[in-house]
Amino acid sequence: MSESKLILDYVLGHETSQPERVYLTQPVGDGRVIDYTWAEALEQSRRMAAHLRSRGFAPGARIAILSKNCAHFIMAELAIWMAGYTTVAIFPTETAETLRYVLEHSEASLLFVGKLDTWPQQQAGVPAGLPAIAFPLAPETTLETWDAIATRTAPLQGRPRRGADDLAMLIYTSGSTGLPKGVMVSFGALTRAAEGIVNDSRRRLGTGGESRMLSYLPLAHSFERSWVEAASLVDGGTHIFFAESLDTFLQDLQRARPTMFISVPRLWLKFQQGVFEKMPPGKLDRLLGIPLIGRIVGRKVLKGLGLDAVIQAGSGSAPIPADLIAWYRRLGLKLFEGYAMTEDNSYSHTSNEQFGEPGYVGVPLPGVQVRLSPEGEILIKSPGQFSGYYKQPELTAASFTDDGFFRTGDLGERRPDGLLKITGRAKELFKTAKGKYVAPAPIENLINVHPMVELSLVSGLGQSAPYALVVLAEDLRQRLADASVRARVESELEQLLRNVNRQLADDEQLRMLVIATEPWSIENGFLTPTMKVRRSRIEAAIAPQVAAWYASGRSVHWA
Ligand code: AMP
Repeated sequence: MSESKLILDYVLGHETSQPERVYLTQPVGDGRVIDYTWAEALEQSRRMAAHLRSRGFAPGARIAILSKNCAHFIMAELAIWMAGYTTVAIFPTETAETLRYVLEHSEASLLFVGKLDTWPQQQAGVPAGLPAIAFPLAPETTLETWDAIATRTAPLQGRPRRGADDLAMLIYTSGSTGLPKGVMVSFGALTRAAEGIVNDSRRRLGTGGESRMLSYLPLAHSFERSWVEAASLVDGGTHIFFAESLDTFLQDLQRARPTMFISVPRLWLKFQQGVFEKMPPGKLDRLLGIPLIGRIVGRKVLKGLGLDAVIQAGSGSAPIPADLIAWYRRLGLKLFEGYAMTEDNSYSHTSNEQFGEPGYVGVPLPGVQVRLSPEGEILIKSPGQFSGYYKQPELTAASFTDDGFFRTGDLGERRPDGLLKITGRAKELFKTAKGKYVAPAPIENLINVHPMVELSLVSGLGQSAPYALVVLAEDLRQRLADASVRARVESELEQLLRNVNRQLADDEQLRMLVIATEPWSIENGFLTPTMKVRRSRIEAAIAPQVAAWYASGRSVHWA
């Protein structure tokens, strides 16, 4: 791949060389879909690009997209790029307050409104007078529509180019603390990361044949944007399917029959819990252990999940328990963990067949340099490195070492063969009253493998010993009115506490497990839009009860 070629050059190349190949498949309700070939997608984008240009925004103007994943998200982004502007994609689950913050901070000139569940509430966050255009799948609005504009506007002609240092996008990271930061992504960084991802996938999947992906993790986040959108734009050989809704997810998967599937730990856990609802873990485990039968059973389970055509699967964006990876591999799914972040365009580390030990996040992708600071902080220099935080030069300067490595804030250990293990967040470490630092993530991993547990959070700043809050699996939560179910939960968790503590150093051992009765969700603000646990908010919500739990001396509590 050529160093000087940028993402738009690849896209325009596919438009010319394979105009009739289907690129995007969009469900439009009642099981119907619309396919867009490369020529059709680009024609739509060229029409919208011409329209955006006609509005006369300054070069580099920020244009926002608020939408769930859909074909028009990608077509709008291409239009924004071809017109000479910069995309700001906002999580479709974001509140009106955050929407306003991002639109104002980025000084967005226009907003695309797409597929959304909560637009009536979100509208309040749109500054008065901001021009907006509705995608075909947007909720009912009085806004001008994409289709009306595309019908009356002639396509932009020629082969628009952007410079390597021009900004392709600002990605607002909805971190687990504080206000979102605008990560500036240049065309150069985006392209180099996408090329690296494509090369990595080709090595794994082999070239030739069609690869298929289902795009369902939020495109506003860097993981999906780089690994699905940008990679498919560079590659040209991937057919992207979209999902219709949460309710149709399994049908959407079965339509796509993805060959490559990426997800986040929480969803990998949910899929597993779905399997356990149909077959108890012990029985499945026994069946998987029988030669030949085990393979057939594994395939059947994967088929039920819609993942039987998957050649490679990935997990990233948060820690995943090693046992969970091992469980999927036993089913026959090649699940590999990766580690990266918005600031390197999600191009940093992945595991693979050779370096794939569960519990490690893999080795650096080609071109990525890594080292550890004396404190154990992971420092990364990636070809996908961002250009800084928008309007925050001081924060940008503080985020890099003198020789240009990004300070990730993550703590890690490296094996001599290069395998990296994430041991926690520098900021997440807390000290118990014994003055010993505790890193919560590895302990949470031990807890999260239990089939009754959906999520957990280890805390205990200044306490005599740490404790863990746990959210129970959904099916279990629905049966808690039954006293015998509650009793079984308590006894299982007591057993879990003993098992976990056996694996921990003395100073890390948990005093108790506390069952959170309100599940953590994106809606109640306890999870970020990418389902990371917002520690400080959860800790603040339960703070008034903590002293009583410690005083009671019991090992399992209901919050
Ligand atoms: P984001 O910018 O939202 O992608 O978040 C990046 C952060 O997610 C990293 O700095 C890590 O703290 C965390 N992260 C990503 N992948 C992993 C992983 N495999 N294991 C543990 N933490 C991860």
